[in-house]
Amino acid sequence: MKFNTKVIHGKQKHEPATGAVMTPIFQTSTYAQQSPGKHKGYEYSRGENPTREALENAFASIENGTRGLAFASGLAATDCVMRLFNSGDEIIAGDDLYGGSYRMFTQLFEKYGLKFTFVDMNNVDNVKNAITKNTKLIWLETPTNPLLKVANIAEITAIAQANNILTAVDNTFATPYNQNPLDLGADIVMHSATKYLGGHSDLVMGALMVKDEDLAKKLHFIQFAAGAIAGPMDCFLALRGVKTLALRVQRHNENALLVAQYLENHPKVEKVYYPGLESHPNHTIAKNQMKGFGGMLSFRLKDNSREATFKLLENLHVFTLAESLGGVESLANHPATMTHASIPEPERLKIGITDALIRLSVGVEDIEDLLADLERVLKMI
Ligand SMILES: *Cc1c(COP(=O)(O)O)cnc(C)c1O
Repeated sequence: MKFNTKVIHGKQKHEPATGAVMTPIFQTSTYAQQSPGKHKGYEYSRGENPTREALENAFASIENGTRGLAFASGLAATDCVMRLFNSGDEIIAGDDLYGGSYRMFTQLFEKYGLKFTFVDMNNVDNVKNAITKNTKLIWLETPTNPLLKVANIAEITAIAQANNILTAVDNTFATPYNQNPLDLGADIVMHSATKYLGGHSDLVMGALMVKDEDLAKKLHFIQFAAGAIAGPMDCFLALRGVKTLALRVQRHNENALLVAQYLENHPKVEKVYYPGLESHPNHTIAKNQMKGFGGMLSFRLKDNSREATFKLLENLHVFTLAESLGGVESLANHPATMTHASIPEPERLKIGITDALIRLSVGVEDIEDLLADLERVLKMI
């Protein structure tokens, strides 16, 4: 089955009792048993729920996995992965991570004895040099948030496999339409389904996808035992979102490339970060491992005052100034004060998240309206 078909039909079946084409919202916590222990496969909705099951099957299918798991948020999915490890284990992660992942690693898990090393994964040697005998996981985000750095997934997973280390990829920015890390050797794919998988800015959810059955069992056990599951209503919405993922991402890809090219040629713009531009340092790697370059980009204004950046952000009309990303509507974000404010300032500045940096989630509107909005605000500064 090819991708456009898979998002609609992959591992899906019509609801068996009625033939309902869309799996209904099974808004129930518990299930009647005929005799103690004798039931229809459902006991309690933390363990299993038909709506979640339909979505988890779709999740597995779109990342070419055997199993998908749906969580209460993207961070709950990441938390589940971290619980695979023991005190003393070491994890190598990228140095330009989603702010909440960094916060979880350093403020929640370090105190339980997990050790995190943050390296620039643009260069594979940095990953190699950070490996010790205690390294158990490489946590990769590509492209990264907010600087759109690209890491070579196949090269890093090969190094990990040679050293008996697991690899997990946060594939939120790329989407399964553009990039499938399990096919490139990764063990676990994580998504904030809040973003492109849901696609309509109407839910918060996380996903894990895996190929290996044993690993799937371990993660499922943690999902069940720790309890951070996604609810049936949200699962229904996310399943509905997944069905149009291919259509939406095609347009996100097209629009973002055009916005990136427009900004790159604008005299008031210092630099554009987008893997689809030839000026991106890892454009060739992106071209090899991605089908399209996604809807996310960042840019830096030449005027690096906070005033200029804020004026631009306050006056956008079609783009909405808001956190999050991946919905049908275009959003603008100021990483330094919004999504990445939890990273200490010296760390932030070191990796390039300055006041002049703006992140855009380019939606699926008409490109003329998006460019006109940017043109108007750039004239104001
Ligand atoms: C939003 C996001 C997360 C966290 O997901 P939530 O659903 O907000 O918990 C993780 N990684 C990336 C890249 C994100 O954009």
